[in-house]
Amino acid sequence: MAERKRILSGMRSTGRLHLGNLHGALENFVQLQHQYECFFFVADWHALTTDYATPQAIRANTWDMVLDWLAVGLDPEHCTIFIQSEVKEHAELFLLLSMITPLPWLERNPTYKEQQTQIDGKDLATYGFLGYPVLQAADIIIYRANGVPVGKDQLPHVELTREIARRFNFMYQTELFPIPDALLTEVPVLPGLDGRKMSKSYGNCIYITEAEDVIADKISKMMTDPARIKRDIPGNPEVSPVFAYHKLYSSPPEVAEIAEGCRTAKIGCVECKKRLTKNVIARLAPYRQKRLELEADMKKVRGIIEEGNERARRECIATMELVRQAIGIVDRK
Ligand code: SF4
Repeated sequence: MAERKRILSGMRSTGRLHLGNLHGALENFVQLQHQYECFFFVADWHALTTDYATPQAIRANTWDMVLDWLAVGLDPEHCTIFIQSEVKEHAELFLLLSMITPLPWLERNPTYKEQQTQIDGKDLATYGFLGYPVLQAADIIIYRANGVPVGKDQLPHVELTREIARRFNFMYQTELFPIPDALLTEVPVLPGLDGRKMSKSYGNCIYITEAEDVIADKISKMMTDPARIKRDIPGNPEVSPVFAYHKLYSSPPEVAEIAEGCRTAKIGCVECKKRLTKNVIARLAPYRQKRLELEADMKKVRGIIEEGNERARRECIATMELVRQAIGIVDRK
């Protein structure tokens, strides 16, 4: 059997995951674990690049995220799940790659500039924040991964990783690091409750394993077509966040019926939302159930992650031995 290609992906430890995370990344992870040799990690050091002054929540967020990953179907039999800070070799490679990464590569990174202006109340003029794409490159190439599943917005980072890997190979006359490809994934854009992008910082999220009554309450307050101020005024489903959810959570005949009912004012927003609530709750119920089971057996969850950390470490130890040899900072064998 041909060897499966290896891919790697991580998420910053931000705690419980929302439906934007589910449809934007997690569902894809669950598929990928059956097609590739997958390493998925909780990027807690990355969380520290912006939350270094208030790190208290990072550890709890890490476990919250692990629970959601396992609840939606990441399976330790099919992929390796680990925590970045538990595999210290990432930091060593980050240090060594920092030596060879030209500063202008980092300064021109669009995310660096954007976030400097967009994130309020945090001083991001730090070496760690500027250098996080180098840490990201280390995270990826330490596994000698062939690919990284990303959305369009992450493409510049993968490009930077590719450049750093090439530079290392060239500088030390080696082919140690494969140049990883970006596996672009088309994902549905799911609006938040207020119609903006779903984001924790906007407070407009539905969480994957949220209680049913909370989901119902949130959907009941969700934005609709703003022009539909009365029940008998026809609406335009395409501008209604509620309809964007129906497209993901309701069957095609029901979606068609809702669209037609909205346009002709046959259906009111209250009923439309009730139908959506039923479908969302039905779809998320198994995740919630699984999370409750996992929470009741944290010993098992910690065991899964310890095993993942160990598997990841084994890979990294082997790579770092070759890295040190390639650079020549150890006695040649
Ligand atoms: S009927 Fe449904 S799709 Fe139409 S505006 Fe109301 S909530 Fe949105």
